[in-house]
This record gives sequence, C-alpha cells and structure tokens, in this order.
Amino acid sequence: MKTPELVRRLLENLGEDPTREGLLRTPERVERSLAELTQGRTQTIEEVVGHGVFEEDCSEMVVVKDIEFYSLCEHHLLPFFGRVHVAYIPNGKIVGLSKLPRIVDVFARRLQVQERMTVQIAEAIQQVLQPKGVGVVADASHLCMMMRGVQKQNSSTMTSCLLGSFRSDFRTRSEFLGLVRSIGT
Ligand SMILES: [Zn+2]
Repeated sequence: MKTPELVRRLLENLGEDPTREGLLRTPERVERSLAELTQGRTQTIEEVVGHGVFEEDCSEMVVVKDIEFYSLCEHHLLPFFGRVHVAYIPNGKIVGLSKLPRIVDVFARRLQVQERMTVQIAEAIQQVLQPKGVGVVADASHLCMMMRGVQKQNSSTMTSCLLGSFRSDFRTRSEFLGLVRSIGT
C-alpha cells in the first residue's frame, strides 16, 4: 500500500473523516514531510563531506557547539530535538566546519534513538578524520515524553560518546565536558 493510502486509513482509524477539507491533501503532505525527515537514511557520509577534508598540522581541540538538530523517536514517531556539541583533536586532517552540522543531519534525519544517534555521529567523524579523539554530547527534548506527560515538561536528555583520547585522557575529557557544561549557563 502506498503511503498516502496508509495515512488515509490512519486518519479513519483515529475517527477522522479524511474527505473533509482540511484533511483532503494531508496524506500527500505527510508522505512528503516524512520523506524529508528521514532522508538521512539515503545519504552517505562521503557524500555530505565531499571535498571538505583538509590536511592541517593542528593538534588543538576543535569544538563546535550548539548544532541544532531535529529527529524522530523510533518508538513513537514523534520528534526529539535539541543541540549537539562536537569536538575532535586532529591528527593531520580537519573537516570544514560547515560539514559537521551536515554529518549531524545525516543521523538525525531518520527514525532514531538519541543514544544511537550520538554514537553514530562520533563514529562518522572518527571514520572521516581518524583524529586523536572525538567527543559528542547531545542534549534533547523528546515530545513523546513532554506531550504525553510521562515526565516533567522541561526535562532534557543528555547523551555522550567519547572516543580515543576523549576516553583515555582525563584532561581532554574534562576540558571538553567543561566546555559543554558551560553552555547555556
Ligand atoms: Zn519516544
């Protein structure tokens, strides 16, 4: 069955009349918007990074904070959204800063759980740059909790993934987590 037909059925199951004016074109709209919100599944990291990797003799931590993201929780098909903070320590290569949000989007735009998204972003940066270490922290609000009143409305969920020196070197880890903690305070 095609998606618009499924959505029409869904509307009926919700007790709605899919032929009323406001809902008439909803099935096609839902199909288009779901395709867009899950398009990360059709993209590869190589594709989005393109020629954005450069040789650079730099060994200082690179930190990009507050990368906005929007994703869909795979358990409820409801949005979760927030910010991702990304850091890495180069090992001869850096990536164009505009590429990091695009890497985040590849993994955000699909049915997800926040924990897996965080790990996937870190592993993708690891794969593209082979840096000395990678740190990723995601801070998100989940509408499936907020709208359904399961938890306090303002609660947010933090997840992190630390690879390489971010895991093994205490100073690197605390520098990164200190930078992340200072956000919004
Ligand atoms: Zn959920």
